[in-house]
Parts: sequence; C-alpha cells; structure tokens
Amino acid sequence: MIYDLIVIGAGSGGVRAARIASVHGAKVAMIENNKFGGTCVNVGCVPKKFFFYLSQIYKDVEIYKSFGTNIDVTKINWIQFIKKKDKEINRLNSVYENILNKNKIKIIKGSAKFLDPRRVIVGKKTYQAKNFIIATGGKPFKTEALENNKYINTSDDIFRLKKLPKRMIIEGGGYIAIEFAYIFANLGASVNLIYRGKRILKAFDEDLVNFLIKKNPKNKIKFHLEKTILKVDKKKNEFLVKLSDNKIIKTDYVLSATGRIANTQNLGLDHTKVQINQSHSIKVNRHFQTHEKNIYAVGDVIDYVNLTPVAIRQGHFLADKLFNNKKMIEYDFTNIPTAVFTSPQIGTVGLTLEMAKKNKIDAYELTTSFKSMKKTFSSKDKDTFYKLVISKKDKTILGIHIISDDAAELIQLLAVNVVAGNTLDDFKRTVAVHPTSSEEIITI
Ligand code: NDP
Repeated sequence: MIYDLIVIGAGSGGVRAARIASVHGAKVAMIENNKFGGTCVNVGCVPKKFFFYLSQIYKDVEIYKSFGTNIDVTKINWIQFIKKKDKEINRLNSVYENILNKNKIKIIKGSAKFLDPRRVIVGKKTYQAKNFIIATGGKPFKTEALENNKYINTSDDIFRLKKLPKRMIIEGGGYIAIEFAYIFANLGASVNLIYRGKRILKAFDEDLVNFLIKKNPKNKIKFHLEKTILKVDKKKNEFLVKLSDNKIIKTDYVLSATGRIANTQNLGLDHTKVQINQSHSIKVNRHFQTHEKNIYAVGDVIDYVNLTPVAIRQGHFLADKLFNNKKMIEYDFTNIPTAVFTSPQIGTVGLTLEMAKKNKIDAYELTTSFKSMKKTFSSKDKDTFYKLVISKKDKTILGIHIISDDAAELIQLLAVNVVAGNTLDDFKRTVAVHPTSSEEIITI
C-alpha cells in the first residue's frame, strides 16, 4: 500500500496535519515511538500548568487570610499531586490516539528511518508514501559542561520529581528556567538561578522583566547573572554546584534549562536531500517544504517559534495545501501572542518599542501600573503593569506587554487588537467594565 501521507511524530503539529489530511480524503499513517501528544502534553505546557496552579496555593491563602478568614495550608501532598497529573496526561494520550483512530489514520508504533525519499523503515517493516511530514519535535539541550553529568535534570525529568526540593539550582534565562524558578520559589524552595547573560527573558519588554524581578516570591530566587555552571558533584545527600566565578553552591536539585534542540538524529535524513541547520533543525521554505520536494516538516523540529499553537497552525496549513488547497487558510505569524507562567504572569504580543525603533517605525508607549483590588488587604505593592506600543503615524496598536495575575488569559484576547490593526481610539471608544483590572488598559 502507498499512503498519500505519512506523518512522523504524534505531537500537536503532527496530529493536526494527519487529521486534516484524512478529513480531506488522504490515506494517512502516523508513526510515533513514544506517548501520543508530544512535548506539550507529556513534558511541557500541560503538566507545567498543573505545577503552576499548585504553586499559587500559598499566595492565594495569604490573600484570603487578609480578608479575615482563618485558613492555613498545612502540607502539599506531592505524591498525590503527581499521581493526579499523570492520570490526566494518560487521559490526554488516549484522546490523541482516539483522534487518529476516529479519522482512520493507521498508527505505527516505533522509530522511523528514511530508506529513500519515498520509503521509511520501522523495525523490520517498510512503509511507502507520496508525501511525508516530519514533526518529531525537540529535546532538552545540555551545555557541554553538563551533558554527561548524571546529576543534571531537564524539563523531561522535573515532572517526575519524587518530592519537593528545599533548595534548587536552575541554569538558563528563557521560558523554562524562569517559569520553574517562580513555580518552585512559590512552593517554598530556595532557588539559585544561573544565567549566562545580563538580562533574563531577553526577548521580552525590559520594563516587564524588571517588574517581574521585583516580584521575587519572598526573595526566594537569587539571580546569578553572567555566570554558568562549570561542574556538579554529589556529596552525601546533596549536590555541589561550581559556577564560572568558582563559587560553590549546595543544593538538592539541579535543573538545566538551556534550550532545546530538534529531534533529527537517526531519521535517516542522509538518504534524502533534506538539509539541516547548525542547530539540527530542518530547513524548510515558507510552505514547510524541505529540500526534498515530497518531504515537509512542521513544529519544533524546524525551530521557528517553538510554541504549540504555532505547530498546530503549520500542520493545518500544510494538510490543506497538500490535499485541499481551495480550503487553505494562509497563516500569519507576524503577531504571535505568548505568555510566561510566572507569578505574576507575563503576556505579550507584537512589537516592543525597542523592536519598533529597530524597524524604523516611529512609535511611543503608554504605561500604567497599579495594585489589583484583590490584594487590597494583603499587599502594599503594585502587582500589575500594562504597556501599549503605539504608532505615531496613525495610533495603531503595535504591541501589548502586560504583567498581572491573569496576563496569559488577557493577552489572548488583547492580541486580536494587534492582529486586526486596531488603534488607540478603538480602545478609548470601548466602554470599560468596572471594577476590573483590565479596564485600566482601555482607559490608559
Ligand atoms: P529558551 O530558548 O527560552 O531559553 C534558553 C536559555 O538557555 C536562554 O536563556 C539561553 O541564553 C540559555 N542558554 C543556551 N545555551 C546556553 C549555554 N551553552 N550555556 C548557558 N546558557 C545557555 O529555551 P527554553 O529551554 O527555556 O524553552 C524552550 C522553548 O520552549 C522556548 O523557546 C519556548 O518556545 C518553549 N516554551 C514555551 C513556554 C510558554 O509558552 N510559556 C514555556 C516553556 C517553553 P541566552 O538568553 O543568552 O540565549
């Protein structure tokens, strides 16, 4: 049998591509060597969000105590929590498998290797297709100093943590490092954050990041900037971590969060014309086609913007393009909203003022910061900061950068304004909802 399409990798991008191709009438097979759902479901967005929710417990209790209630959290049942998290992930694995089965997609368990541009081998069996989509995602990257060290954990390991560590060392200054630093600090751990650069979350608006750093949970996070980890040793029940300034810090857990690399090894790509970048990611054109014309790639494996909804859009677009291009919805990745699940959370879409200047766009900012009403009795400090980046020419909103307890939820809807090209006048014309925090962005 010759399939119309074989997808390699049942993560968010791959499953969407397979499903849509099948809806369009294509004969599709899916090859997966691990659990269904990919990084996001198994060791990414989904379990991370559960960790994030749990991490808010002490903060929330403080707020309710400030209203005069008499509650205390005695202890977190970590084992119970991990069990519940695993149960939900198992459920989601089945949901993904069911999507494939319902759409009559042949599931092949195992690792695929190209024999030539039209054939792959899985175990001892060969499968043939007219088209292939590689959607094999990525895996954690460890720095040279740590790559062979058995005491180092990555974001694949942290979700299996057996108990809550009291002390933690995290290396990195991106999404994963910062989210886990805030999650574990809020859960009571003392966190040493080691970052090689001067500014964590360097791609984000600087004011937002400075605001976040000031919201350090009970000062539990210590930032070591312009440092790296040189070595990790174990002594009795603790780890000794040597930094690039020769300082040694003792800890219970070491997390390396220094980026991810594309899963392109062992795919037999040398039997095709597919080319890879220095970072191991697959080179594609704007239609996700590789240098081999019947082989395509989507998601983290192309290392474009490594976010689940982006992979889903890419997979959907490609399935439409290949099997029903009349239905094809062009993607637009100019303004991708994104959130960092710290506390408070960061939400961002569009240009920062710095980016606008680099693009020679004449722009200005409007900002506001305040303490949200919920914290009236529990805190003296501001917890919310909103910023709009506006075009001087026609008042178009070019970027929105916010930090608040619900920034992730807000930015999803606020992003529509940037995508639609709405102006500051559109904000001003909109009647506020009172009393809310978000009304402050309408009346900014
Ligand atoms: P990021 O690319 O966000 O951050 C990697 C960090 O590691 C950077 O701070 C980088 O430093 C540092 N680093 C890289 N190489 C080295 C090195 N050799 N030595 C020391 N430090 C190094 O990757 P993450 O691993 O945090 O996350 C992976 C991807 O997953 C993200 O890009 C994001 O797309 C996605 N993700 C999204 C989330 C969300 O949407 N909320 C949450 C988690 C992940 P420098 O800054 O100097 O480059």
